[in-house]
Amino acid sequence: MSMHELTQFDEDNLIFLVEIVRQMNARGENPGTSGIYSYRPEKSEGDFFMLSEAGVDKGVFGREHMIGVGEKGEVLPLWQKSGRSTGNETPLHMMIYEETDANCILHSHSLESVWFCDLYPGKDLVEITGLEMLKGISGNESHDVTLHIPIFDNTQDVQSLAESARKTLRHSPGFLIRGHGFTCWGNSVWEAKRHLETFDYLFKYFNGNK
Ligand SMILES: [Zn+2]
Repeated sequence: MSMHELTQFDEDNLIFLVEIVRQMNARGENPGTSGIYSYRPEKSEGDFFMLSEAGVDKGVFGREHMIGVGEKGEVLPLWQKSGRSTGNETPLHMMIYEETDANCILHSHSLESVWFCDLYPGKDLVEITGLEMLKGISGNESHDVTLHIPIFDNTQDVQSLAESARKTLRHSPGFLIRGHGFTCWGNSVWEAKRHLETFDYLFKYFNGNK
């Protein structure tokens, strides 16, 4: 079991993550307290993560709203306060950390991501090719690659959604939920941010083309 200890590197990353949440809020991507964000601390052995507190207005989101959870998403004693939780989408984040080498996960309710799903009714995997911005996704060296983005139907049964999504993570470092939003990750906070901006560009491109 790892100590629930944050290094200076972690603190710097958490401050950066808070800045990203504020930037997303300024773009209207997490209205009405929505969205969930997380970070895997340097010394985590799969049993320590920092997640955003649920129900917080993202316009005033701060470092104090990142709280420590264990491997099942349970709030750790140091961060427990009455009524404090990381929200019902926590299992999705825990599943992604289990299955990938992600160190940061971002979840957006951007309208562009919701509209993008509406372009592909009934489709559960969308193919994108031929755009220079595909190089914004790690591992892509050229515009001439094919990215597959999974789309899931929305549900309040987040556990079953997590199990469906678990099988698709190899396709892309992000997936969509119809009528809801978008989740992406990276092996650093920087990479997660780059992926978020890259996917958002792709959504805007196709939305503008309809
Ligand atoms: Zn959501």
